Amino acid sequence: MNSDVKIKIPKNIRRSVVIILITIALVAIAALFITSLSYFRSIEIEEAKNRLSLYGRSLNGTLEQFQYLPSVLARYPIIISAHSAASNKLLNKQLAHFSKEAKLEAIYIMDRHGLVLASSNYDTPQTFVGQNYGFRPYFNSALSGKRGEFFGVGATTGRPGYFISEPVYDRLGNVSSIVAIKLDVRELQKAWEEGSERVFVSNKDGVIVLSSNPIWLYQTLSKLSDKQLADIRTKRQFGDKPLSAFSWDRIGISTVSIGGEKSIYVSTPAKRLGWRIHYLLSERRIFERATLTTFIFGGALSALLAFATFLRSTRIRAALRASQADRSQLRTTNTELKNAQAELARTSKLAALGQLSASVTHELGQPISAMRNYLAAAELDGKIKLGETWEKLNKVVDRMENITKQLRFFTKPGDEKLAIVSFQDVFGDVIALVEHDIRAVNVELETDICSSPVFVRGNRLRLEQVLVNLIKNALAAMEDTEDAVLSIVIRVENNLALICVQDTGTGFGDRKLEQLQEPFHTTRASGDGMGLGLSISAAIIKEHDGELIAQNLENGGARFSVSLPLSNGRA
Ligand code: ADP
Repeated sequence: MNSDVKIKIPKNIRRSVVIILITIALVAIAALFITSLSYFRSIEIEEAKNRLSLYGRSLNGTLEQFQYLPSVLARYPIIISAHSAASNKLLNKQLAHFSKEAKLEAIYIMDRHGLVLASSNYDTPQTFVGQNYGFRPYFNSALSGKRGEFFGVGATTGRPGYFISEPVYDRLGNVSSIVAIKLDVRELQKAWEEGSERVFVSNKDGVIVLSSNPIWLYQTLSKLSDKQLADIRTKRQFGDKPLSAFSWDRIGISTVSIGGEKSIYVSTPAKRLGWRIHYLLSERRIFERATLTTFIFGGALSALLAFATFLRSTRIRAALRASQADRSQLRTTNTELKNAQAELARTSKLAALGQLSASVTHELGQPISAMRNYLAAAELDGKIKLGETWEKLNKVVDRMENITKQLRFFTKPGDEKLAIVSFQDVFGDVIALVEHDIRAVNVELETDICSSPVFVRGNRLRLEQVLVNLIKNALAAMEDTEDAVLSIVIRVENNLALICVQDTGTGFGDRKLEQLQEPFHTTRASGDGMGLGLSISAAIIKEHDGELIAQNLENGGARFSVSLPLSNGRA
């Protein structure tokens, strides 16, 4: 199996596969991102609700912690008698002490007209003593016997506060005065400002009364009606604050946009004053978390996809490689089959020729030798006049004998005894046979014969047949060549016995050796060659487990090399 076969997948298929994979990956990543967004959004909403309830608890706790105090104070004798006292000096001090203990901004007592009779801040420049708060709703509420509570910007101090009031009754059960406390909410406001979260509280009119962002304070969530505005002004609830509109856009139930930035929005009512607490959580975090998740999961998914694709393409490649290997195996088998067929045809042709040659030489052998005997007898008897005709008859007999000799060359000898033969001996015998022919065509013979004997195991006569044939072919190829040279080399090469016959003739052009050794393939004139020499030689060499190689030489001519397994020379 050829492991380095390169499998080429068509470009357009590869491109389509890549496009499909990228599309799948993009769709998966987009789906993942959208799912993560909605998942993290629900988580963030939950988180916002938790934070909101925490802020709610803290606000409610702050507002409720002193709910009991005014009613306790209202039962205090010194307070009950405040409205009739000539001087409230002692009461002022007492109130200051209470206020300091309770960490309140002020505790103060008003008469039935709203005039402050005594106050914990009696000794400060912004003392309430002497001020009249009859316009405040918490005063009116207490006057009518009810507990009052109110949030507003201090009319005297300008500081926002949460006011709680309680009526103080005389012995007859009439409201004689009103006790009120003011809780400074700036502590809470400050704590919220310092935190990184966005939270605010609106009153029942929609005015922001507490906020983590001080800029939002006293802005209105919705437009106030004229009546609302007039009411606020009467109560002097927010002093001279302009009460501008809060700039936000509600998008759906739980989304708002403030200054172009989208936030999750949740709100819940507070326990007192009809207030509502609002909490905002930037959506940026949702995007960040969804992006991170998409990045991690998308990366893992892409890696998984790439790995699966790699595995799949490896499998496809392996399958393609296997099928290519099968195809190449099939091709090799086909070629081998064709060669075997050609070889079979050649062998059967040679076999037929061998049979024919055997019967012709057998049938003609008798009459030819009879003719030769008659001619010899006639010569001895002197019955015949030796002359031109006798000469011609002799030549005809010679020629006929020569033809039968040639035919015998093709006849496979029945007894093919193998022996240890040296190439040098084969060469010696052959040269003796063809010496005359070499000289006749005026060819120079060059030899390069290995000094030590080169032994092979074979049939000496058959090997001589091969060498004679190669030399005769070389001489034939050099018939019209000037300065013709025939070179014969015998040597050992790569542990093989080698004999090369090289000429300076025409060469055999672009024909292949298979063509040359095809029976009856010849370029020689009829009568000069039968086109059998090379096919018989090739068959003999094959029988000897050897190899015949033919090469055209660069400066013309051809070289035929025979290599046979080397024998150690021992029988
Ligand atoms: P023949 O010699 O009877 O033609 P061969 O089988 O010996 O038959 O040779 C077949 C053909 O191969 C020759 O006709 C010739 O064309 C070519 N051939 C063989 N040997 C040589 C050579 N040394 N140089 C050029 N051509 C050759």
